[in-house]
Amino acid sequence: MRRSTRRRQDAPNLPRRPVEDRTLGRVFGGKYRPSTFLTLTLDTYGRVDKHGAALDPDSYDYRRAARDAIHFPKLLDRFWQNTRRCVGWDVQYFGTVEPQKRGAPHFHAAIRGTIPRSELRAITAATYHQVWWPPHDEIVYSGDRLPRWDHHHRAFVDPQTREPLPTWDEATDPDTLTTPAHTVVFGPQVHVKGILGGSEEAGRHIGYLTKYLTKSVGQAAGLDESATARQREHARRLAAELAVTPCSPRCPIWLLYGIEPKGVRPGTTPGHCKGKAHKPEHLGIAGRRVLVSRKWSNKSLSDHRAERTAFVRQLLDRAGVQPAYAVDDGPFEWQTTKPGDTDVPPRTVLLLHAINQRSRWRADYDAAVLATIDAPPDDRSATGPGDAPEDRRAA
Ligand SMILES: [Zn+2]
Repeated sequence: MRRSTRRRQDAPNLPRRPVEDRTLGRVFGGKYRPSTFLTLTLDTYGRVDKHGAALDPDSYDYRRAARDAIHFPKLLDRFWQNTRRCVGWDVQYFGTVEPQKRGAPHFHAAIRGTIPRSELRAITAATYHQVWWPPHDEIVYSGDRLPRWDHHHRAFVDPQTREPLPTWDEATDPDTLTTPAHTVVFGPQVHVKGILGGSEEAGRHIGYLTKYLTKSVGQAAGLDESATARQREHARRLAAELAVTPCSPRCPIWLLYGIEPKGVRPGTTPGHCKGKAHKPEHLGIAGRRVLVSRKWSNKSLSDHRAERTAFVRQLLDRAGVQPAYAVDDGPFEWQTTKPGDTDVPPRTVLLLHAINQRSRWRADYDAAVLATIDAPPDDRSATGPGDAPEDRRAA
């Protein structure tokens, strides 16, 4: 019960407005509805040179850098929760997580609508995420002295005493765990810019959102052949810290700290996690790099599906491709089938039918594209300018 009281501290002291059912910001001058471009960064961990490498690696706080990177997505979630509560409407955004040169993730987002800069700054400063994980400051087991699986206990045990290690649930019991292992906050740098759609500035800021998406995290941070010796050392230190920082309650690295993670098996190797967060080239950024709010495009998946169908039909029409099969638009009456239903074809037949149908559709579509290669169909009427199923795919 203590936990619920404690967790309530997570609601920061911000003005709260009831959240209205709207996803757009204010209109200015009767017609302008600017958008907001926002950049959120993490705190400083020590001074860096112009390439982002620590000037003094011994005093640079790699431990906090590694933990902050791993928990950054949670901090962002909390930021959007707080923002919606504070501004009072269902704020929609399209954002990307990118590494800075120093290796820390930062976040660029386009927000539909305007939020005053002072408000965004206040929300950023008040947002934090507490990590209620067991303490993991001191490595307990290393080298040849590692916990081992014990068949009798069906648990990992201490190699000398043969006592089972505390399980995740035991170690995170609210009576045992009274302080968070880590707290993530944003850094003081918050970049906020109001932008009008269609302007040169809008194009430039959209560029920031997409600039690095085709590159790996490591490449985006500038860790290529041209990296300086100091950059390499910086990357090495950060990677070393990420290699001993647990990434989730199921991470086998917990065994080094004397905790049995969730979901262990006899074959679990202490300290070896396949999670992306620990890979040097990922810099602790394990989750998705494109984060899109659910109502960003204001369309449901069925809307997108209907638009794609309309687009394909328009294309086939234009190309004069006559589908060699009847397209039945219904209306249909749907019924749930039961096991043993004699009307239901065997599964293999259904699968082969579905594959056959798909390949016929594809062939017709390809033929139509070839036939209209000089005259692209007016896709705007079907899908609207540029917004699209891509939004969803990114989500
Ligand atoms: Zn892990």
